[in-house]
Amino acid sequence: MAEQNKMEKIVSLCKRRGFIFPDSEIYGGLANAWDYGPYGAELKNNIKRRWWKKFVQDREDMVGLDAAIIMNPETWKASGHLSEFSDPLVECLKCKKRYRADELEAETCPACGGKLTNPKKFNLMFKTFIGPAEDSANVAYLRPETAQGIFVNFKNIMDTMRPKLPFGIGQIGKAFRNEITPGNFIFRTREFEQMEIEYFMAPPEKDKDWQAVFEDWREQMLDWMKKLGLDVKRNIHELEVSEKERAHYSKKTIDFEYEFPFGKEELYGLAYRTDYDLSQHAKFSGADLSYTAEDGKKIIPHVIEPSLGVERTVLAVLCESYGEENLTQPSPSQGEGKIETRVVMKFPFWLAPVKIAVFPLLKNKPALVKKAKAVFAKLKVDYACEFDDNGNIGKRYRRQDEIGTPFCVTIDFDSQELDDVTVRDRDSMKQVRVKIGELKEYFEKKFK
Ligand SMILES: [Zn+2]
Repeated sequence: MAEQNKMEKIVSLCKRRGFIFPDSEIYGGLANAWDYGPYGAELKNNIKRRWWKKFVQDREDMVGLDAAIIMNPETWKASGHLSEFSDPLVECLKCKKRYRADELEAETCPACGGKLTNPKKFNLMFKTFIGPAEDSANVAYLRPETAQGIFVNFKNIMDTMRPKLPFGIGQIGKAFRNEITPGNFIFRTREFEQMEIEYFMAPPEKDKDWQAVFEDWREQMLDWMKKLGLDVKRNIHELEVSEKERAHYSKKTIDFEYEFPFGKEELYGLAYRTDYDLSQHAKFSGADLSYTAEDGKKIIPHVIEPSLGVERTVLAVLCESYGEENLTQPSPSQGEGKIETRVVMKFPFWLAPVKIAVFPLLKNKPALVKKAKAVFAKLKVDYACEFDDNGNIGKRYRRQDEIGTPFCVTIDFDSQELDDVTVRDRDSMKQVRVKIGELKEYFEKKFK
């Protein structure tokens, strides 16, 4: 499968099957903005819930936070975003198209060959106004990262939770960047969601002190990528960002890159940010953001930041899970001898938007429908389930394959007498008969 082709197929499947729609489509859409449909919303929520459980709830050294998107603009002075958070922008003098200067290979417009302006700095923060007066006194910004919401709450967390170093604060939330060149489906969008951790530790005395914490987080992130079903050996590449390219205050940054169909691109980041952020906020706000160590000494903690994007996670999972299989057995609908291609999303079970689909074999047999509804009602207590009685059974299987449902349960004529169902496995397509009374135990084992 050609890679570009694969991307088109994934975009098309996402639209067709209710994962991801172009935003405000009935008005012609909005470039590079996307809406998550029923299955996309489930997939996204599964990712966020699992991340929160793994990195916040299951750890004794972590707490959670949910800070506001619009913050006091002083925040962005302290963080450096107002002065530094910009890309070099050039404009074509002929066709007026705009580009990021650092992404252009030639010195002329790629669209028309026209001359380009000199690069000027373009701040990536979305500007807005608070209240009815649109003047400079009321300017505010949509946060370009969730991290600063954590730093400005450091004192609140210290005062209320009294954590001991090392400890971390995790947050999931939206962030906004007015990107000059967004694109590649949901890879780079102007509105996106982050799952970020700021992990605070005592100022390291030796390099190996922070290196050990950094290494631990590196392993935690790799473990998370494995949980997502990503082929870490083949598709994840770690890139240490050079001193020249990383932020001036960062002592080490690793990008985890994923082999997307459009190329190797950043999936996650891990950075050692020293005490830069807390020191800046202490300086600009005048607040005491120190931590009192056991010996009574006041210290400014240092920070390791594992930063993950929700949409990039969704995209990597979609790319990794997408599969096409040629079925050897001829399908009646396609005529003898024709090879049918099965499209299947092989999500890890915990990620699948629907865990079990329940079908009556035929929808015009009330006894079958009634029994199927009873099975559905039982299973949906514990699993995200879907009831479907539309079209022939083969089509219903294909539809569930395309949304990655691990199991389909069918109630057929034999079910009437035997009080059992067929359970069809997404990956092997094998079917087994299971007594209705044993279904609960059967799925407990499968979803363990
Ligand atoms: Zn041009």
